[in-house]
Amino acid sequence: MRLTVATHNEHKLTEFARLMPGYEFDLLPPGAEAPVEDGDSFAANALIKARAGALLSGAVTIADDSGICVESLGGEPGIRSARWAGEDSDDAANLQMLIAKTEPGDQLEYVCAVAYCDPQSGTEHTVEGRCVGVRAADPRGIGGFGYDPAFEPLEAPGRTMAELSGDEKDLISHRGSAVRSLTAWLSSQ
Ligand code: IMP
Repeated sequence: MRLTVATHNEHKLTEFARLMPGYEFDLLPPGAEAPVEDGDSFAANALIKARAGALLSGAVTIADDSGICVESLGGEPGIRSARWAGEDSDDAANLQMLIAKTEPGDQLEYVCAVAYCDPQSGTEHTVEGRCVGVRAADPRGIGGFGYDPAFEPLEAPGRTMAELSGDEKDLISHRGSAVRSLTAWLSSQ
């Protein structure tokens, strides 16, 4: 099956390709304007991106909206994870923000929503995956992306997400869990 993936994030794309072997992926054109993500949940924002991508491409499109929720901060930054350190912030600045705002051992949760949109039939579907962990004492590891060097998953104690192999991350990650729900739903269609 061919799917358009509405993302310019090469890390997410790498993970989708790993998690969905047997699917072929198309990307939106390089200059494609990103929609305003003004939803109030990960699922709402994923659907906004999938709908916008489907409108542009005319093809079946999936999109991911994801982020990190810090329990001691009432779930912040949540849907604002990409811009936590400011409008134009990058992964390094956001990671520094997490280190500054939390203590080692604080509970964290990754959330990933993936939305599917078929512009011909009008079918839409959204799935969500979660992964609980704790703030590492110090950022470690060179794998993954984003907040991974500071995120120790409960299912891989003593190692950060950035110290896991791609396959190890996929088995326990929020994105892995969301994509497995999506592929199960796709197979049932
Ligand atoms: P989005 O592209 O608007 O969905 O923003 C996602 C934000 O969450 C970015 O800051 C990412 O770096 C972060 N993020 C999402 N998934 C992951 C992950 O698997 N590991 C680390 N950071 C992630």
